[in-house]
Amino acid sequence: MQQLETGGCLCGAIRYSFAREAAVSAHHCHCDDCKKSTGSGKATILLLAEQALKLEGQVKFYTVVGSDGSHVTRGFCPQCGSPLVSFVEEAAEIRFVKAGSLDDSSWVRIDSSYWQQSAAEWSPIDNSIPCFKGNPEPD
Ligand SMILES: [Zn+2]
Ligand SMILES: [Zn+2]
Repeated sequence: MQQLETGGCLCGAIRYSFAREAAVSAHHCHCDDCKKSTGSGKATILLLAEQALKLEGQVKFYTVVGSDGSHVTRGFCPQCGSPLVSFVEEAAEIRFVKAGSLDDSSWVRIDSSYWQQSAAEWSPIDNSIPCFKGNPEPD
């Protein structure tokens, strides 16, 4: 049986859904751009295939060039500012959903952390899971 997961922004203008089994993995990212874009110590993201994610509403996107030269596009609600979904343009078949925007995130288990080297002291990395200094090595 398919468990449908739902989520959205703070004001409710943007909603999304996906089948739970489409979520490949979950990660904390402590990079400087994620700190800025979330206003917090890290972004917590769920990886899933682009076609598995159903988005409703007008997401606003902002693109920056990442540390490795790739183009990282972050999507957020233009009305309330909640960060929701992001992707790397060079690998656009994968979407990263911000775990905190899920309606129910109790099932999420974090696999690893990225960007140990830029983790803030007040938001330490989780030592119980694998941690990459920067971006994880591609498989
Ligand atoms: Zn909103
Ligand atoms: Zn990041």
